[in-house]
This record gives sequence, C-alpha cells and structure tokens, in this order.
Amino acid sequence: MCGIVGYVGERECADVLVDGLKKLEYRGYDSAGIAVFENGKIVVEKSKGKLQDLVDKMAKEKKPEGHCGIGHTRWATHGEPSDINSHPHGNKRVSIVHNGIIENYKEIKDFLLDQGYGFESETDTETVAKLLDYYYNGNPIETIGKVIDKVNGSYALGILFRDFPGVLYAVRKDSPLIIGVGENENFIASDVPAILKYTNKYILLEKNEIATIKEDSVLITNEEGKVIEKEINEADWTMDAAEKGGYEHFMLKEINEQPNAIKTTITPRIQDGMPYLEESGLTKEMLKSFRRIYIVACGTAMHAGLVGKYVIEKLARVEVTVDIASEFRYRNPLITKDDLVILISQSGETADTYAALKLAKERGATTASVVNVKGSTIARESDIVIYTHAGPEISVASTKAYSVQLSIMYLLAFELAYVKGEISEERCRKLTQALVEIPEKLEEVLKLKERCQFIASRLINSESLLYIGRGLDYALSMEGSLKLKEISYIHSESYAAGELKHGTISLVTEDMPVIAVATQSDLLEKTVSNIKEVKSRGAKVTMICTEDVDIEKDIANHLVKIPKIYDELTPLLVAIPMQYIAYYTAVLKGCDVDQPRNLAKSVTVE
Ligand code: GLU
Repeated sequence: MCGIVGYVGERECADVLVDGLKKLEYRGYDSAGIAVFENGKIVVEKSKGKLQDLVDKMAKEKKPEGHCGIGHTRWATHGEPSDINSHPHGNKRVSIVHNGIIENYKEIKDFLLDQGYGFESETDTETVAKLLDYYYNGNPIETIGKVIDKVNGSYALGILFRDFPGVLYAVRKDSPLIIGVGENENFIASDVPAILKYTNKYILLEKNEIATIKEDSVLITNEEGKVIEKEINEADWTMDAAEKGGYEHFMLKEINEQPNAIKTTITPRIQDGMPYLEESGLTKEMLKSFRRIYIVACGTAMHAGLVGKYVIEKLARVEVTVDIASEFRYRNPLITKDDLVILISQSGETADTYAALKLAKERGATTASVVNVKGSTIARESDIVIYTHAGPEISVASTKAYSVQLSIMYLLAFELAYVKGEISEERCRKLTQALVEIPEKLEEVLKLKERCQFIASRLINSESLLYIGRGLDYALSMEGSLKLKEISYIHSESYAAGELKHGTISLVTEDMPVIAVATQSDLLEKTVSNIKEVKSRGAKVTMICTEDVDIEKDIANHLVKIPKIYDELTPLLVAIPMQYIAYYTAVLKGCDVDQPRNLAKSVTVE
C-alpha cells in the first residue's frame, strides 16, 4: 500500500510525479503529496484526499517547479488521513516519502523528543525523517545507513537532502521499490506502471541497498558504501496495459481482459495437450512426493485457493488446507518438509502472505508462489514461482488476477491427479483441452453484461444480501460476495446453501436478496431445495446455473445461464457474472468503482 515515486531529469518534475502517482493510486488514496527542489530549496505540496485534490490545489495555488523530486499517495496506517499526516514528511534539510510501517516509531519519537525535536504529524514516517536529520553528517549514504540500522519494520523510502539538489536517494526493506532507468532521466516507483510512459528498464532494489540517483547515473551501494553491480530488467508490460483504453473503469476493462489473460497464462504451461509445470521447477517427482498441500493467501487470492482445494482434493485426492495468511503464522501450523506450501498473491508483495512464506521456509517445506508481478518479493523468495500473466491489474477489486490464479490451480490439480495416478491420461487431456477452450467460452459469458446490469438494478436498494452455493459453488460464491461488498458497500455474506437452515435463514426476508450459484450437477437438486426455502420466505433469488439446466420457471426470480462445461471448471465462467453484478451495482449506486473507500491494493502492511 502507499505509492511512492521519484524523478530526476530534464522534465518538469511535478508533472512526472503526478503522472506516476496516477498509476499508483490503486495503492492508496487517503492523501497525496510531492516535494520538489526549487531553486535549491525543497518545496512541499500536499493535500488530504485523492490525487486530484492535490492537482486542483496546485492549480489554484502554486505548483513547485524543478527537475528533481519525490511523490506519495497514501493509505494511512498511523494517523488519520489529513493534510498534516500526508507525505512528504521532514523539515528544511530532509524530505521523505514512505511506504510501510515503522514498528519502533514510538521509541524513536521519544528519543528525538529528548533531543529537542518537535513533531507535527501522528505518522510513524515523520520519525524516520527526523532521525535522518538527527544523524545527518553531510554524507547521505552514511546517514541513511545509520537510520536503517535503528528502524524496525517495513519501508520503501524516497529521500531528498537539501544539500544535494538534483539527487534522489532510495532504500527499501519489505516494501517494494524499483528504479526506472531512462535516457538522461531516472525514476523511483513502487510499481512498474508508474514509469512505463518513460521507460521499460528498471532495477530491483534488494533489502537495505541504498540508491543514489542522478539525472545521468544510478549508483547502488550497501550500508558501508560498497558499490553493488545490478542487473537492468525490461518490463514486458506495455503502457496501454496500464491505461483505461476507452473503458469507463479499470475494473470493466480488466473483466474484459480475462479471456486473453487466461490464454497467456496457460499456453506456456501446456505441452502436447498435457499440463506442464516443469518449466517453473515443479517436477513430476516433486509433485508425487508431497504429503500435504497448504494454500496461503489473502482476500480474492485466498478464494482462488479455496477453489483450488476443492479441485485438487476431488481430482488428485491430496489433502489441501487453505489458510488466510494473517492467521496462518499465528496458529503454529503443522507444516513439515514433506509439504508443499503454495502462496498466492497478485502483487507478490502482500505482507501477510510474505510472512507465511518465511514461516514455511523456516519449517523446511517446499514453497511455490503464484504471482503476477515479475521480480516481486514473494516471487523471488519462494523455491518455485509460477507467474500468472494477467498484465497490470489497476482496479482495487481484483478480477483478472483471480481468473488466472484459478487457471493455475486447475493446471496444478490436473497434473497432480495424473502423476498420482488418480486420473487417466485421457481424462487429463480432456480436462486440459476444456481449460484451453475456456477463453472462447468466456467471450460468450462476457455478453451477459446487460443481463447482469438488470440484476444489479434490482440490488441497489438492498442493505444486505446472501450468496449461497454448495461445494465448488460455495467456494466461488465467497468471491462473488467479497466483490459485491468491497465496491458496492452492500453487506453481503456467502453461505453454504445447506447450512442456512442452521441459523442464518432467520435473516431472510423480502428485503434480503439471494444469489444462488448452482452449477454442480450432482448438487443441483439439493441447491434447488435451498433456493425454494429462501424464496418461500420472501427472498428475491437470482440463480446462476448452466444453460442445460431445465428447471421450473418460478424457482428463481432471475436466471443467469452460462455455457455447459465440465463441472470442475465452471468457476472460471461464473466469475464473470459475479464480477459484472458487483460492478454494475457499484456503478448504479454511484460508488467509486476503481477506488473503493478504505481499501487499497497490494497490501504491504500486516
Ligand atoms: N505508515 C505510513 C503512514 O501511515 C505509510 C503507510 C503505508 O505505506 O501504507 O503514513
């Protein structure tokens, strides 16, 4: 969370910073701010609210002019979203932007108060700015080295020292940061999309490496000032991928990108019609040897893991435990070296998932990550990485990342089931082929837009809603429910359809719409009975089922029919109507779809 950018070069710095921050707003939008060298002085402009508020403020008052500076878009952790708590923080001599949490900020603050320092904000960040000032000895690298020795927690920092105009300093630990390398201009950013307009070349900064960045040079040193040679990477994401491309919202664009994202993700992992994960380092021998699988993730990625559990257990008959990453490490899980721990994270920077990865490694398990961002921390530190190729996901509510994560879960399930002898080669081929055909089927499902828009129009006045399903449909409905609540702010719960009668059905009235997912043929009759139970208590029911289902007309109030495919694979199709329903409900209610309140993407705090 929190986006940071920095620029040094010939362009008007404030414009480049605002431009970069626009691409990072998905990381937080509580406030925005920039600091720019103007005539040898550090000039700061900041404002509570979205980036646009800062832009408006600068248009009305003054935009700092200069060619070197730093910028920030905040997701508040310490101190409410306010002008005063907005980044950059510092004083006349030093100014910083920060992504992360300084865990010992209180101790540092007390120390600095004793030294006579004063504090304006309630942030943890300001303590780092003032500590930099305290240790400043005319040598920025030494000063930064001393400060990072004293702070605990996570940080990506962009730093300006008044005495060094035209130089940008950066350092990171457990929060992401890249250095964009251009022609006579260089950048820092939390994520690649922020620099794509100017360059696709970047350097990944490792833990506590200190970058000294000038217009025409990038120097990376360790804390002792020893120079470190770094590789320059090339991003394969294009600038268009990080633009709305004519769609009203990023979310709608990303929903529509799903057929292609799945195709790009699965194609390199299928050889001669069979799943092939070996290129990621996951060999057949390894797959055969695992005693148990843990899938650990947060939010939508965790829901992809739940579908994975159902499919892996059903087809491969291997025990799978799915954990919410923030719970996993505190429950002292029984992982051993014979287990496979799968970490799923779109950004590859999710702090809780990263902590789970570290725990799994300590216990000697094999770790495999399913990650969308190349070179991210989780990807780099896990034994095996299976990259999803969704391209940049900008909308805070995840859509295409979920689908590609699901598609990896399927390949894994098929391959595992085959190597374990649980399914024949013929069945494995058939399932793999059905997966290959998914993008085509998705094009059909995308046409359900109007239908879903109509259903959304029936939901907008509700305060609460239930998503129900059985088996895979239940795992899937958890994602539908999360999607709806996170962007439309309608309270929604997903419930195992058969469990309703043990308590929750008491909530059902005519004011409580129900969305029932019923795509599993062996469970259809049972789910239909549950639908009848809620309908007879007044609920308006939307039923999502496959096109072959022939049910009595009045079972549900609204039907959404998806193409008939193998039962195991339906989550890939149903994801779209669920996303559309959430999207249009939020649009019709006038919610900020791409930037829902209180949320941010790429959750780099625990
Ligand atoms: N802890 C800092 C703040 O609250 C940065 C937050 C973040 O990176 O999410 O301002």
